[in-house]
Amino acid sequence: MTSSASLRSATKRVDRALAEVDARRDELVALLGDLIRLDTTARELPETPARQERELQALISRRLAHHGATIDMWEPAPHDLPRNAQFPNDVNFDGRPQVLARMPCEGNGPSLLFCGHIDAVTPGVPESWHTPPFDPSIRDGRLYGRGAADMKGGVAAMIIAAEVVSDLGLRSHGELFVGTVTDEEFNGGGAVALAARGPRFGGAIVPEATDFEVYVCCRGWLGLTVHVPGRSGHADAPQPHWRDGGAVNAIEKAILVVHALKELEAKWRKEWEDPYLAPGVLVPTIIQGGEWWVSYPERCTVRFNINYLPGQSDAGGWGVSVKDEIVQQVAAAVADDSWLAANPPAFQWDVNLPAAGIDPESSLVECMSAAASAVGAEPQLGGQHSWDDAATLNLRGTPAITFGPSSLDPAGGRTLHATDESIAIDDLVRTTQALAAAAVLHDG
Ligand SMILES: [Zn+2]
Repeated sequence: MTSSASLRSATKRVDRALAEVDARRDELVALLGDLIRLDTTARELPETPARQERELQALISRRLAHHGATIDMWEPAPHDLPRNAQFPNDVNFDGRPQVLARMPCEGNGPSLLFCGHIDAVTPGVPESWHTPPFDPSIRDGRLYGRGAADMKGGVAAMIIAAEVVSDLGLRSHGELFVGTVTDEEFNGGGAVALAARGPRFGGAIVPEATDFEVYVCCRGWLGLTVHVPGRSGHADAPQPHWRDGGAVNAIEKAILVVHALKELEAKWRKEWEDPYLAPGVLVPTIIQGGEWWVSYPERCTVRFNINYLPGQSDAGGWGVSVKDEIVQQVAAAVADDSWLAANPPAFQWDVNLPAAGIDPESSLVECMSAAASAVGAEPQLGGQHSWDDAATLNLRGTPAITFGPSSLDPAGGRTLHATDESIAIDDLVRTTQALAAAAVLHDG
C-alpha cells in the first residue's frame, strides 16, 4: 500500500472504532457502575486487609476472556518486588491479585499495554456525599461514585476500547494487553509487579484523568516526618535559659524547621524548571505537638509532602540528592539555635516514588496526540504533578504516557480524591474512543 492508502485505511479503522465505542456507550457506563460498586479502597498500612479487589479483578478477567483474551491473574509473592527505597519492606498482596490480559490481536509490530489501577482512595465522610460513594448514580450527564475519575472510569474505558479493537479486528500489527493493578494509591506496588511479570511492552498508556492532555513525565515524591525536641515545663512560670534547666517550646522550634524548608522551596522555584511540570514543593501537611495546655510542649512532629522535578533526580529517578539538600538546609537553619544545634531534629523518611518521563518526541506521544485529535481534543503535552504508574513502566523500559478524561467538577474544582467524585459520561466515551484510536494507530 502507498502511504496515503495506508493512511486512508487507518482513518477508516479509526472511524469504525469510534462508531463502535459510541454504540457501546450504555455498556461502558454499566461497566463503570459495576466497578464502583465493588469497594477497593486503597490500603493505608501494609497490613490493611484486602476488600473486594479479588472480585473486581475476577469480573474484569471474565469479561475480557469472553472477548477472547488470555488471562494471567496472580497474587505476587512478597519477594517478587525489588527491595529498594520504594519498597523498604516486603509487600504482601494477599487478596489483591493483578491481572494481565492479552487480547486476541496478532502481528509482529510492537505491543501496546493499557494499564490502570483499581484501588481508589477512601470516600472520606460518606454522609457528605449527595449519593452513597459505592452506589453509583447519574445526574446531569455525570456518573457519581468513588473512583469515577481516579480511575475506574479510565479502567472501564480501556477495557471497552480493547474489546472494540479486538472484536472488530482493527489491530493486526502488534499485540494488545490490558493490565489492571492494585496499590497505586499506596506505594505503586501493583504496577511494579506487573512490569516484573510481563514482557517489555512496545508502549503503554495509563488512562488517569489528564484533561485530554498527553502527560509525558511526572515528579518524584518523598514523604518526610521531622521530629523536633523540646523540654517540658510550666507554661505560666518564668523559664531560665535551657542550659540552666529552662523549658524549651518544641512547637516554636518546629516553626524554624518549617521556615527553613519553605526557603528551600523558594530556592527550588528559582533554580529548577520543567516545560511540563510545576516546580517542586515542600508542603507541611500535618503538625502535632504538645502534651498539656499549660505545659511547654516537649515534642513536635511535622510531616512534609515533597515533590521534586525529574531534573533534580538522580539515576533511576530517585531523590537521593534532594534528601541530602533537605537535611543540609535544616542543619544550616538550626546551627544558629543553640538548643537545636545541641538537640537536632530527627528525620523519618517514608514514601519514596521516583520521577520519570518519556521523550516528548517519541512515536507513542505522536500516536496518542493523533488519537486525541480524532476525538476532537486539542492535542497538548503536559505532566503529572503528582505521580502515577506510567513512571514505573518508563523506569522499567516500557515507554509510557498518561492520557484520560477531564478531572474538572461542575463547580470548576477538581473531582479527584474529593467528595462527590464524578466523571462526565461524554468524557468517558471520548476517552474510550481515544484509547481505541490509539490502539489502531500505534505501531511503534
Ligand atoms: Zn489514579
